[in-house]
Amino acid sequence: MLLQLYLHFPFCKRKCLYCDFVSAAANEQTIAAYCLALEKEIRTMGEKYADAQVSTVFLGGGTPSIVPAPLMKSVLGTLRESFFLLKDAEFTTEANPGTLTKAWLETVMEAGVNRLSLGVQAAQDALLCRIGRIHTFADAEQSVKMAQRMGLGNINADVMYGLPGQTTADYLETLERVCALEVPHVSAYSLIVEEGTPLCRSVEAGEMTVPDDDACAAMTEAGIALLGKHGYHQYEISNYAREGFACRHNIGYWQGAWYLGMGAAAHSMLPPAQSEAEMGAVRLRVANPEDVNSYMVASPDVKREKSLITAEEAMFETMMLGLRMNQGVGERHFEENFGQPITARYGKALESLVRDGLGYWQEHPSGELFFALTARGLLLQNEALLRLMD
Ligand code: SF4
Repeated sequence: MLLQLYLHFPFCKRKCLYCDFVSAAANEQTIAAYCLALEKEIRTMGEKYADAQVSTVFLGGGTPSIVPAPLMKSVLGTLRESFFLLKDAEFTTEANPGTLTKAWLETVMEAGVNRLSLGVQAAQDALLCRIGRIHTFADAEQSVKMAQRMGLGNINADVMYGLPGQTTADYLETLERVCALEVPHVSAYSLIVEEGTPLCRSVEAGEMTVPDDDACAAMTEAGIALLGKHGYHQYEISNYAREGFACRHNIGYWQGAWYLGMGAAAHSMLPPAQSEAEMGAVRLRVANPEDVNSYMVASPDVKREKSLITAEEAMFETMMLGLRMNQGVGERHFEENFGQPITARYGKALESLVRDGLGYWQEHPSGELFFALTARGLLLQNEALLRLMD
């Protein structure tokens, strides 16, 4: 079976004010202990999935680039010994400016990393400071140029909009400056003010204000236009790429690929065992413990939370994730997976989406029909999904 791998590194130099991911500052001793635990899990899973062919690997966090190079080298060595990676596997690492060094990049590139995803976020240092980022935009520029000089041209820049005090002009300036760096991929995320974060407390206390929904929608539209002008095609709600540079790993998530996550808080989507299939499961969602210490103590016998996914749930998930993508959900793909045409299950809802200008059918060069959301439908995705739930 084809499998995608994800490794989670839950460490950052300092917590950003808006962040509710599983990540925290840690000393080198803790990071070393975590990497040992992670290697144990990698070996165990490698034995379990010995027949799998790995098509993509993603090192995420947190900030993988904070893990000292010798530790990372050891983790990736174990990964390569334990799994069969396809020759053309996409191998991404996330990294943050202010932590990325030439030596670190050399180490991971030697281990097979061929794609970099960098947290740039904004071009205005005052904005970066306001949201608690540890770096300046110049740091981000330096990181990109260093990677490019080292022959790593497949780079994604993460940017954010809807930041406190950010104007549309700020956001567009960020995109212009990111495009000028000639990175072939941009991910643009709208800030979500998550409960319990310092940013949320500042917003609630009236110390900071974030752009409202209309302002964010305007930023989204202006961003799509600007990126389009520079040759970046929107292929998913938040993702834009030049020809040939869409992220295969993330596309796998949206198209229902099997993936195995390792490390604290990592999630997996795997085929069910025989006994689980007999209980009606067509997929198995697995979550590793979020608590880093519990994970380190227990690995490799980590207590994983399993959820059985029925065909009905998997169908909805296929629509929910597939409709995030501009190409939409393929008729053939749906029928092959669920043994019934997409119109047999969702015909009425799809008709209503077409009628209201939120969705449409498109034929791909292969001849396969895909159902996709229109630009308006992508902006009103929740409304579209509600109709599919009826
Ligand atoms: S760098 Fe990313 S993961 Fe780390 S604290 Fe900031 S937002 Fe969270």
